[in-house]
Amino acid sequence: MRDDDVIGLVIALVVIVVVMAVYIGLIVLGVTIAKRKNRSPHWMWFAVHPLGLLITLIVMASLSPLKRCPQCAQTTQPQARLCPFCGYSFIIPGTFAPPPPVYIPPQRY
Ligand SMILES: [Zn+2]
Repeated sequence: MRDDDVIGLVIALVVIVVVMAVYIGLIVLGVTIAKRKNRSPHWMWFAVHPLGLLITLIVMASLSPLKRCPQCAQTTQPQARLCPFCGYSFIIPGTFAPPPPVYIPPQRY
């Protein structure tokens, strides 16, 4: 093995390590953004493909953060006034909306 081959091998190895570090760093960044916006970090599984990583990062960065209900911990749209899961009121904290009326179909004989 010549010296040039060894140097080329080392350079290739360093480039691969740097590219992988940047790739993993971008995935970690995407997961961090998703958690900060109350969105599922599992969207970053698209990052298995480099193009998926790029698209998911752009979409995740442009999405608005979801609102987390302090009562049931479910997430909902940022402009929601009531939690769609438990009826918690975001306008008057600590109050609940009355349960929606139950539809009873007319009975036929
Ligand atoms: Zn709720």
